[in-house]
Amino acid sequence: MANNDVRISVDAPAKINLFLHVVGRRPDGYHLLESLFVFTETGDRLHLNPSDVFSFAASGPFADQLSVSTHDDNLVVRAANLIASTAGQALDVSIELEKNLPIASGIGGGSADAAATLKLLNSYWNLNWPTERLEALALELGADVPACLHETPIMVRGIGEDISHDIAYDGPRHILLVNPLVSVSTPAVFKAFTASSAFDLSLDHGYMSKPSEELLLTTSNSLQKSASGLCPEINEVLKALQACKHTNIVRMAGSGATCFALFDDSKACAQACAIIKANHPNWWCYRDMIKV
Ligand code: C5P
Repeated sequence: MANNDVRISVDAPAKINLFLHVVGRRPDGYHLLESLFVFTETGDRLHLNPSDVFSFAASGPFADQLSVSTHDDNLVVRAANLIASTAGQALDVSIELEKNLPIASGIGGGSADAAATLKLLNSYWNLNWPTERLEALALELGADVPACLHETPIMVRGIGEDISHDIAYDGPRHILLVNPLVSVSTPAVFKAFTASSAFDLSLDHGYMSKPSEELLLTTSNSLQKSASGLCPEINEVLKALQACKHTNIVRMAGSGATCFALFDDSKACAQACAIIKANHPNWWCYRDMIKV
């Protein structure tokens, strides 16, 4: 039995890989990663209402790009069905996804929405499952979904299942995300990486326990070259971000095409956002803070 009869909401923030190293490959083809994941304060949002019949709808600027007609294709619906069947609950809710983040853009998106669905229903049904139990379910939905259950910086290893929480992030917190509104296929980027690039060396476990700007500058996103080969607009976005004042770290996020720049202060971040928006009115520009 559900313990709530009113609408409840949860954030599904953007996830940004501040660095992403590919350190190996499993026999099943999945790549082994080392990556610092951080999350923004805002992003997509999910709303739940009690309902006799399950329904799913999307709203927001990117809602029309989602497949909500074939309901089972959507990760929100798959996550809802998975936790309902595992918990032995009837899916007695309607879920609305407020889609504020672009689709297939390398910043979590579907993975964050799926993770938020698990959290929403864990709370609605009063299951009180600990994060470790939700992480195991989340991994059935996608490699990035367990990480997206978190809100503060984490180091992720394996394909996404090995998560370290004790990360004291000490780098810049103002972040500007820019996407040329071209979607990039994650499997295609990994395939291009396999065909053309060597694995990175694995970092010592303690190396990133207190990530600073200086440490981040020793790292990279290993998928950047493969992704920009498939989507040349990524190079234009990186160039536009590199031209902004007061930023040292400019990089692609995840498997692209979103790129980010980090700033120490909000004014510099706001100025950069305004300039890029003015010069590239068709790009998506989003300014936020990294949650710590
Ligand atoms: O797990 P997810 O659906 O997010 O992954 C999409 C695809 O990206 C996988 O099918 C795989 O081709 C590739 N991938 C990978 N190694 C990872 C994560 C994803 O090769 N660690």
